[in-house]
Amino acid sequence: MTFDPTTLSNFTLFGTAFAAAFIAALWLSLVIWTFRDIRSRARDPLARVLAILVVAVLFLPGVLVYLILRPARTLEEEYQRSLEEEALLQTIEEIPVCPGCSRHIEPDWIACPHCHTRLKKRCHQCGRLMELPWNLCPYCATPAPGARRENITMEEALQTLPNEAPADEPPSQPVAVEVDEPQAAETKPIEENPTESQEP
Ligand SMILES: [Zn+2]
Ligand SMILES: [Zn+2]
Repeated sequence: MTFDPTTLSNFTLFGTAFAAAFIAALWLSLVIWTFRDIRSRARDPLARVLAILVVAVLFLPGVLVYLILRPARTLEEEYQRSLEEEALLQTIEEIPVCPGCSRHIEPDWIACPHCHTRLKKRCHQCGRLMELPWNLCPYCATPAPGARRENITMEEALQTLPNEAPADEPPSQPVAVEVDEPQAAETKPIEENPTESQEP
């Protein structure tokens, strides 16, 4: 077996070329992988360019640096996470809480057993629960006691007047002034009447 130096050099040349081609393909695929990965993780154009530059310049150590520094979640995962947080917040807000002591209450409680805060009132007609500010029962349309009523009849309106009249009594002076003026107007015709009767 003779050892030909030219075959050896050809073999090394082939091997080197193959290694170079493999490294070039690896470099290109790593750059493309970084481009796809950063595109799904960051919207910022500067962050995208920087990530691709780090991998393109530093090659394999650059990939290591990129894997350490890249955003932990993709944009899709971030979106799903925000949706889950929103749903969680909604369920928390839907749990009824006592306005007085902030403890958990049941929706059909009339008063809080911990701080005795009034929570609901009962319709006197149908007996179902109403919110405290409501003036009208939403189930049977009966106005709550003490609520302002429309389409009120004249008799019902007059029944409330005697109660309001005593409150108007204290300003008595303006009433006296109004009484004086008609008296003065009435005296004038009396003075004119004799002159008219004397003329004929
Ligand atoms: Zn309470
Ligand atoms: Zn009712």
